[in-house]
Amino acid sequence: MRSPPLFYAAVVVIAKYKPEKAHGAGKGFDMLDQIKGLHHVTSMAASARTNNRFFTDTLGLRRVKKTVNFDAPDVYHLYYGDEVGTPGSVMTYFPFPHIARGRPGTGEVGTTLFSVPEGSFGYWTDRLTKAGVEGLKMDAAFGENRLQFAGPDGDGFALVEVRDDPREPWTGNGIGEDHAIRGFHSASLRLRDEGATAELLKFMGYQPIDAKDGILRLGVPGGNGADVIDIETMPNVSGGRLGAGSVHHIAFAVENRTKQLEVRKALMDTGYNVTPVIDRDYFWAIYFRTPGGVLFEIATNEPGFDRDEDTAHLGEALKLPAQHAHLRSMLEEHLEPLEA
Ligand code: ZN
Repeated sequence: MRSPPLFYAAVVVIAKYKPEKAHGAGKGFDMLDQIKGLHHVTSMAASARTNNRFFTDTLGLRRVKKTVNFDAPDVYHLYYGDEVGTPGSVMTYFPFPHIARGRPGTGEVGTTLFSVPEGSFGYWTDRLTKAGVEGLKMDAAFGENRLQFAGPDGDGFALVEVRDDPREPWTGNGIGEDHAIRGFHSASLRLRDEGATAELLKFMGYQPIDAKDGILRLGVPGGNGADVIDIETMPNVSGGRLGAGSVHHIAFAVENRTKQLEVRKALMDTGYNVTPVIDRDYFWAIYFRTPGGVLFEIATNEPGFDRDEDTAHLGEALKLPAQHAHLRSMLEEHLEPLEA
């Protein structure tokens, strides 16, 4: 396994921001109302080409950005979503060639779930089976039909049938409107103890919706469609180990930088150590480690993925942030070419 030192240095910087013991969250502080659901989910992969093929060909999402990991520019950062990469639809990856698989456990995101139209599971079962996708299993949770499947590195995914999800799907990769993914439905957090993280989510504006079989479901009112977080409590399961197929962090959406600063201040006032605002070119980001171990990000909806290329050609060219522009010829030589 290649060790990208810059990347791990960046992870360490973020990991240093550990929550302190006494949190005010949920203890008389006003709940926030700036957070509008998920923004993106970022995971790790072992092969850029396999990853790209899976999300575009198999799942039918649009690659909306081909850039590099800003903290480790010799590695891609690939973004997949709807036509313009609307917050709440964006699955992103750091493909580190040949890294070992992660070991699933607690303190991480367990399953990332996508919304598809009601009645589409026959189509999806057939499509995923033909593509050789593993781990297919149909079940139901909280009154919704769910089709679980594994990503190329064992990533925990599921489709959920949702009636009348108003979000526009991307149909440019051959999956029609009757079946195409609308965006995220939810994500589940696997924790040894739900307590402090549930309090944090409530502070962030999430409300408990239901609880069943050791899973607490929370939702944010007035969200972008990717409104639900499930907390799976697993007191006897040890911590996960980050690797291919693991979620690196999960990002929540705020409209703009003003709202982001409000959230940052509120989190810091309740005892969280939050990073300074970081420019990610397509959004602004702050990060903080949650009590259960999951790395959270708050990301802005502005400026969006069309800030440096036309909507018609999103994701086609290799885009580099200004600080890494001088590395272009080296990176073009070094990065594995992707299929369109
Ligand atoms: Zn992120």
